[in-house]
Amino acid sequence: MEFDTKLLHGGISEDKVTGATSIPIYMASTFHQQKIGQNKYEYSRSGNPTREAVEKLIADLEGGVAGFAFASGSAAIDTVFSLFSAGDHFVVGNDVYGGTFRLIDAVLKRFGMTFTVVDTRDLNAVEAAITPATKAIYLETPTNPLLRVTDIKAVADIAKAHNILSIIDNTFASPYVQRPLEFGVDIVLHSASKYLGGHSDVIAGLVVTKDAELAEKVGYLQNAIGGILAPQESWLLQRGMKTLSLRMRAHLANAEAIFHYLANQPLVSKIYFPGDPENPDYDVARKQMNGFGAMISFELQPGLDPKAFVEELQVITLAESLGALESLIEIPALMTHGSIPRDIRLKNGIQDELIRLSVGVEDQKDLLTDLERGFQNLQGSKNNVSNSTVHSEA
Ligand SMILES: *Cc1c(COP(=O)(O)O)cnc(C)c1O
Repeated sequence: MEFDTKLLHGGISEDKVTGATSIPIYMASTFHQQKIGQNKYEYSRSGNPTREAVEKLIADLEGGVAGFAFASGSAAIDTVFSLFSAGDHFVVGNDVYGGTFRLIDAVLKRFGMTFTVVDTRDLNAVEAAITPATKAIYLETPTNPLLRVTDIKAVADIAKAHNILSIIDNTFASPYVQRPLEFGVDIVLHSASKYLGGHSDVIAGLVVTKDAELAEKVGYLQNAIGGILAPQESWLLQRGMKTLSLRMRAHLANAEAIFHYLANQPLVSKIYFPGDPENPDYDVARKQMNGFGAMISFELQPGLDPKAFVEELQVITLAESLGALESLIEIPALMTHGSIPRDIRLKNGIQDELIRLSVGVEDQKDLLTDLERGFQNLQGSKNNVSNSTVHSEA
């Protein structure tokens, strides 16, 4: 089955009891056992038919052996790290999701795990960071907010050569754009709150493993830790996922158009988009992605105030998060990455003038008119954040 067909007919496409084409929301905590030990379902933390439908679907979409649904992307990530133990070491991408950094820094380090952070685009750096204690390489591609792209197959090959696992957070791409397991990655995970859910109405996380042994371990931990996705959310998520391809095609087309518009906008000094032929990651992106995703970040000319831009918009929503039908825009320095100390943030390449845009599926004309509105408002504005920099440097 091709990907678009799998979205509708993959997983469990109809309810076995009634034939309903939409799997019902099975609101049950426990299940009647006619004979002890012969039931498919016993207790909804261990297994629930609605959750199972979405789990089978994501496993099919990513091309793995089993899927697991969690109450959030963060719960999914925590459960995956629970595969490991005190003393284990990890090579981690240098711009993974802020919440993942927080989990590593504030929680997992306390449990005796150690981490080396590298730019995973630099394969020599990845290789050099591996020690005898290393158990996995963990990364995102494209990254947030600079949309850097790592060669997935190359990293999976390094992991294999060292007999360690490779784990990829595929949230920014979605399985429509990129399927890491096909390149040899062992575990792929998602914040399904983004493109997979797609409608800004559900918080969820998904994990898919490449082989049965890992599936068994993740399944055990899902039940043991208990951060499962509830039946209502499971249903909402699978409903959203059915239109993933339709949505992604519209997202990608709009992103392409907005990239070309921004490339010709004199108030923009830099664009971060894997589909930019001048982007150093362009060739790798083309090799492993179907389209280039619909996230675009760009820097205004130094000194321009990104607030004066984003607050003027009328169609594009000023909000955190991404992957929604509606376009979402944010200023990383003040919003998603605001908790990172400014000097570290600047060292990581996140300028005060940086704007991150999650391109939605609105009519292209309205999006371009809205961006034009923002640029009009910028003429003559001053960046307060930059001014304070001048102070602190003085
Ligand atoms: C949002 C996000 C997460 C966290 O997922 P939640 O569903 O919000 O817990 C993890 N990774 C990436 C890349 C994200 O964008």
